[in-house]
Amino acid sequence: MRIIVLGAGVIGVSSAYYLASQGHKVTVLEKNNEPGSGCSFANGSQLSYSHTKTWAEDLFFSKFVKTVLHPTSFASIKKFDKKTLNWLVKFTKNSSPKKALINSQNLYSIAVYSKDLMKVFLDKESQHNSSWSNGRNFNYKKNGILHFYRSKKAYERDILNIQYNLLSGNRPIVYSANQCIEHEANLVKLLDKKQLAGGILYPEDASADSYLFTKNLAKLCEEKYGVEFVYNVEVKNLLNNYQKITGINTQDKVYIADAYVYALGALSNKMLSGINVNTDVLPVKGYSLSINCNEEYIAPTSCLTDVEKRIVYSRIGNVFRVGGVAEFASTDIHKNSYSKPIKFLKNNLLSTFSNFGDIDSCKHWSGFRPLRPNSIPLICNSKKYPNLYLNTGHGSLGWTLSLASGKILSDLINNHTSPAFDFLNNELN
Ligand SMILES: Cc1cc2nc3c(=O)[nH]c(=O)nc-3n(C[C@H](O)[C@H](O)[C@H](O)COP(=O)(O)OP(=O)(O)OC[C@H]3O[C@@H](n4cnc5c(N)ncnc54)[C@H](O)[C@@H]3O)c2cc1C
Repeated sequence: MRIIVLGAGVIGVSSAYYLASQGHKVTVLEKNNEPGSGCSFANGSQLSYSHTKTWAEDLFFSKFVKTVLHPTSFASIKKFDKKTLNWLVKFTKNSSPKKALINSQNLYSIAVYSKDLMKVFLDKESQHNSSWSNGRNFNYKKNGILHFYRSKKAYERDILNIQYNLLSGNRPIVYSANQCIEHEANLVKLLDKKQLAGGILYPEDASADSYLFTKNLAKLCEEKYGVEFVYNVEVKNLLNNYQKITGINTQDKVYIADAYVYALGALSNKMLSGINVNTDVLPVKGYSLSINCNEEYIAPTSCLTDVEKRIVYSRIGNVFRVGGVAEFASTDIHKNSYSKPIKFLKNNLLSTFSNFGDIDSCKHWSGFRPLRPNSIPLICNSKKYPNLYLNTGHGSLGWTLSLASGKILSDLINNHTSPAFDFLNNELN
């Protein structure tokens, strides 16, 4: 079958990989001049295979309002129109412990599948090209992720919350404050300030550079599986005859195939609502710092999550990456909006660690998480158009879920669905 994938982010390229390796003739359309240049570019780099907490968990309406109104909070709302309000109502409906647990378990099943697929992928592809061996061409590090807690209350709450992990055979390890220091010496500053209650280590988790992965995977798709990548082409709209998609309209021509996969990330959803496919995806803008830390500089070497501040820290090669902040309903792509969130990340960095690399020369970045109210991605048929498939809405876990998302989608197109992911069929209204 001829298939066009829209978008060369980590989700689009993973979809192209599985579709092409299963014999389809795939073309990928991307508006930028390279793959992985959208939200997949400088994200937090965490592969959170065993920690799939949803965004809504705990953020019931009054707490959410309090959080976004607090002047030093990680979260804010940038646009308060009817669409955002409807989305927020659905979001807070997913905050109850029962709903949050079901959503986390569903995400967990995709994440664990992704972890297994990563192993299969690396074993297979490193036989043909040794740069994939142990994931060294994208700085893959399987050292676990340590979640650390400032308050005893949050620490004790999450110790109880790891039950779903334990039931699934995963083994998070509860650490005292001193054990956290043994794991990452740079946390001693927090301990000295009496701001380190303890931690939970998720040993199965990993970190890696999602941009390098996407870029190398696109190259592999091209060279080994004959995928065609067309860059600098902006999708304008999806043409249809009310029964199926008939083509993809771009600035220079119409692209035609038998089936179409939508993986355009957070900012192009109007295109779908224009043809009556409602994805419920809200852009949630986040920021990152990439700090140079070659031999002269000391910086944390472990992958860490500051649970209460919702900031992630990863070491990818000579770069120390800091990611966080959530601006709900932001579509502002301009750099002048950088100052407050960047300050938030820098202030937290300075107050958490004694050593963090060359902060003066750090690079700033922002991206838009495609977030759905229940944090569950759309990996499904569009229902309204039998030849249109969706692979979007991965929120803050797109890198983690990428391989599974590509494989599940490709299996769906090939009619090889697994009952384990039946819940994905009910996501689209
Ligand atoms: C600060 C931050 C930290 C994060 N940390 C993590 C983390 O640690 N772990 C994790 O798993 N996830 C993390 N995420 C989330 C993750 O980055 C996203 O879920 C993931 O990148 C989404 O991938 P995507 O392919 O759907 O979107 P994108 O990467 O945005 O890809 C969409 C592609 O479509 C292209 N496109 C858009 N519109 C058009 C058009 N009209 N025509 C042609 N092309 C178009 C874009 O240029 C882009 O290349 C983080 C996100 C942020 C913002």
